[in-house]
Amino acid sequence: MNIPSPLESVHYKELDFSVKRDDLIDPFVSGNKWRKLKYAFEEAADKSVLVTFGGAYSNHLLALAAAGAKFGKSTFAFVRGEKVSNEILFLCKQFGMEFQFVDRESYRDKKKLFKEAFGNNESAYFIGEGGSGIQGERGCVEIISELTEQYTDIFCAAGTGTTALGVFKGLQKHIPNAHLHIVPVVKNLNLEQKFTELYPTAGNYTIHEQYLFGGYAKVNSELLDFCSDFTKKTGILIDPVYTGKMFFALIKTMEQKTLSKSSKILGIHTGGTLGILGFRERFLF
Ligand SMILES: *Cc1c(COP(=O)(O)O)cnc(C)c1O
Repeated sequence: MNIPSPLESVHYKELDFSVKRDDLIDPFVSGNKWRKLKYAFEEAADKSVLVTFGGAYSNHLLALAAAGAKFGKSTFAFVRGEKVSNEILFLCKQFGMEFQFVDRESYRDKKKLFKEAFGNNESAYFIGEGGSGIQGERGCVEIISELTEQYTDIFCAAGTGTTALGVFKGLQKHIPNAHLHIVPVVKNLNLEQKFTELYPTAGNYTIHEQYLFGGYAKVNSELLDFCSDFTKKTGILIDPVYTGKMFFALIKTMEQKTLSKSSKILGIHTGGTLGILGFRERFLF
């Protein structure tokens, strides 16, 4: 894996900022998904099959499939919903992952699914959906401990919030004066609650709720146009589910000039760029 991931200076729309290119950690085990899997792989050193859960377009499934192949593990995924085929699952299969599609109701009880299929298999190891959990957070702290420069404002996307919590932990330790800008990409994340429980007195983060575009994987033409323009002008591929919304928020915030003139801004590219393939028919040619 390409760790530490590169830092890149970007000039876009007359604005200057840096990007932590976690998307370049690996073409398939990309971004925060490797950060979140790293310690699970350590813990599963003596296991042979890694079992996880995800939607049919999950970056996490692809990351696990590719990392499993690289490190000599079998991988198995319970996929939410009816049987489908798409680009991401096709790639997972190429990396040797096996699947079972499960209806939305059964999908909720992941421990039960695991127990029924792998309960007697001592060499099977359970990895939560999206690699969430404390190991995942621990891996994400390293996004910050790797930085070689000081930043005042850092932007990251939030799906479950594991990455944001890990990044915030890293900031408290390494750059306590920095401000974290969190851009939720799913509705009703309740991150505010988690943060106030863990950091009741911290004022150095903002949850930008206004860049949701209606919810998870919801898009409009403004967002799609932004993703195309950003990619064309910077050479950095972004997708409309995660990093598209995050960079949209970063650019809008910089344009509003509410940040101090001397601020040094960093966007964390959490990877997942292949997710854009699922949108190819939404982009107008
Ligand atoms: C999964 C994912 C996220 C969300 O990470 P959380 O830790 O669940 O908040 C952000 N960006 C990309 C590209 C992802 O694939």
